[in-house]
Parts: sequence; structure tokens; C-alpha cells
Amino acid sequence: MTKEQIETILITGATKHDYEAKSGAVNVPIYASSTFDQEHFDAFGPYDYSRSGNPTRDALERTIAQLENGSRGFAFASGIGAISAALLTLNAGDHIVVTNEVYGGTYRFVTTLLPKYGITHTFADFTDLEAIEAAIQPNTVVLYAETPANPLLGITDLEGVVKIAKKHQLKTFVDNTFMTPLYQKPLDLGADVVLHSATKFLGGHSEVIAGLAVTKDEELGQAIYAIQNGMGGILGPHDCFSVIQGIKSLHARLEMSSHNAQKIAEFLQQHEDVVDVYYPGLPTHPGYDIHQRQSTSGGAVLSFKLPTRDFTKVFVESMQIPIFAVSLGGVESILSYPVTMSHAAIPQEEREKRGITDGLLRLSVGLEHVDDLIADISQALEKAKVTV
Ligand SMILES: *Cc1c(COP(=O)(O)O)cnc(C)c1O
Repeated sequence: MTKEQIETILITGATKHDYEAKSGAVNVPIYASSTFDQEHFDAFGPYDYSRSGNPTRDALERTIAQLENGSRGFAFASGIGAISAALLTLNAGDHIVVTNEVYGGTYRFVTTLLPKYGITHTFADFTDLEAIEAAIQPNTVVLYAETPANPLLGITDLEGVVKIAKKHQLKTFVDNTFMTPLYQKPLDLGADVVLHSATKFLGGHSEVIAGLAVTKDEELGQAIYAIQNGMGGILGPHDCFSVIQGIKSLHARLEMSSHNAQKIAEFLQQHEDVVDVYYPGLPTHPGYDIHQRQSTSGGAVLSFKLPTRDFTKVFVESMQIPIFAVSLGGVESILSYPVTMSHAAIPQEEREKRGITDGLLRLSVGLEHVDDLIADISQALEKAKVTV
């Protein structure tokens, strides 16, 4: 049979058959079992204890590995759990080069926790390949990228990064949360580890906190497994089930949300009170050509800058449809204020240097009717204009 399209794999993946019990159940059972009865005194079955392995978790891990064209997948209790596990495969004395525009929690992990274990870092502008190469030190082992990044949707040339990494014998880690394997497959471009906050689009319903890591290389896979089992940050079977269910509708959800995001970005771009719009689906977006080359959609997240903090406050308080919250990737539109939410962990001076200013808002577009969303944005902009 020819290789199936990703839309098919999202549904069938490792989850099509109730392969253990052969009951015919269309959904993977939730194996709520911490331990497994061993039939023989001296030969154990495939599972012994659920920290080390669980059939529901296995189904999710095999599915994400398949979707990313990797060989091993790992499910963690959060995206940060996956990211920290991948980085804890490093040794004391190692150094990493990390994108400037990194998720706030990753920033916190890299700057406050990794140094305790003797792992140091340098931040670099990952929209600039020369800047990345210039940050490499003799003890550098990993280049850590996120594209599109958060919250200004900066684009990193993944093939370019991989080329630099290979030249210096480094590994490339990519946080693929914003694109998901539906739109971008970093392993195919030569990356070594792909990371996800499955809390976002993969889960898709704002009901679960989860993280995933995928590798192609067996040795690296073993190293991550050793951290997963040895440090214990596993995803429980109920939450694995939620993510499995979320993945099945990823294509339908993300296509609709991305389509809506494109329309909203275009609306915002022509609006006179909007200072700037950041969306990789706009030809004016820096890195648009690179993004077009390595991804198949602009995705469902955009950011925009309003004139002032006061204007932004009235705008947010006037919006009716989106929830005002941290997080993204849900079926509901989520409006967030990076300064006090996702990027609060980054000191103010550092934040402003990175363009995360008082008028910046991020919108994760959900599945509401796009005309309603645009009408809502339109009336909130109007209200902010007459009030401020
Ligand atoms: C949310 C997020 C994370 C962290 O994931 P959690 O599930 O919240 O731990 C990491 N990277 C990106 C890009 C995210 O949006």
C-alpha cells in the first residue's frame, strides 16, 4: 500500500485497533493500571509498571512518532516536561544556543534551572543564521529553535539551522507547537528532536496539559526514555486518551482555524488603528518566504500591536467572543496579553528589547464563525478609539 496521507494517519495512527483486547472498540482503552500481572516467574510481558510503559501512552507515543516521521515518541505531563526532559539529556559542562523568541516557560527553565546542573546557554536571534553561528562555543551541543516563535511569530530557517548544526556536530531541537506535524515536520528537515506542548493544538480542547517529544535517532530516543522513566514526568493514561482524541480532529480544526486566522490578519492589517500585525501567512511578514518553504500554512496564531496600553485595555475589555487567557490552540479563540501572561517570566527590559511591548496582543483563532470574530474585533477597536 502507498504511504497514507497525514489526514488518514491522524485518525488511524497507532490507535485504530483495540490491539490488546481485540474487543473492536474504536477508541484506545484507557489502561488505568499502575502495574501489570506477570504470567511467568522468569519472563515478563511487555508492560510491568506504568511509569515505565503503559498501553494507552504507547498508542499516543507511537502516533506522534508516526506523524512526525520519527522513530520514538514520548508523552510527558506537560510541554515543559517534554522540553526539560530533552534538555536534561545533556551533561554538566554543555552549552546550548537558544532562540531569543523562546516560550516563556522554556526561558525560565533554561535561565534558572539548567545552570544548576552546569548547563549554560546563549540566546541568539534565530531569524539570523549568522547570529546563531556566532553564538556557538567550543562546548555547544544543541541549537534550540522555535518556529513560528512566540509571540511575534518570528521565522527560523530550519534547514539553515540544521546545516550549521551538522557543520559543528551539534543537535537541533525544535519546538513545533505552533505548526504541529500537520503543517511542518522538522525531522524531515534534519532536526534531531521535535517538541510539543500537546496542551495546545494537538489536544485542541483546552482540557489537558500534556507534552510530547519525538526523535528519529535510536540513541537519542533511549536518552530521552531514560529521563522519562528516571525522572518520572509521564503523562497519565486518561490524559493520553484526551490527546489521542484531540489528534483525530487536528486536521479539521487547524485548517478551519488557520483559514480564519488568515482572514483576521488581513482585516487587522488594513485597519488604521492597528500598529502592526504579525502572521506568517501575510506576504509582508518577515521570513514569509522561508516559512512558505518549510510549512504548509500560516497557522492559527497571530499577534498585533495596538497604540497604547490604555487602548489595549479597553479593547480587551470590549471583546465579547474570545476568552482572555493564557494558552492557545483551543477550539475557542483565546486572546492573550504576553506582557503579563506568557512572557511575564522574562524581565521587562529584556522583554521590550524583544519587541514584547505594552500594546501587544496575541490571538489564537478558534472555530467560531470568522465574520463574528471580525465584527467583534471591529467593535472593540471602535470602542477603544472613542474611549482613549
Ligand atoms: C505552551 C507552550 C509550551 C509549554 O507547554 P506546557 O504544556 O504549558 O508545559 C512550550 N512551547 C510553546 C511554543 C508553547 O506554546
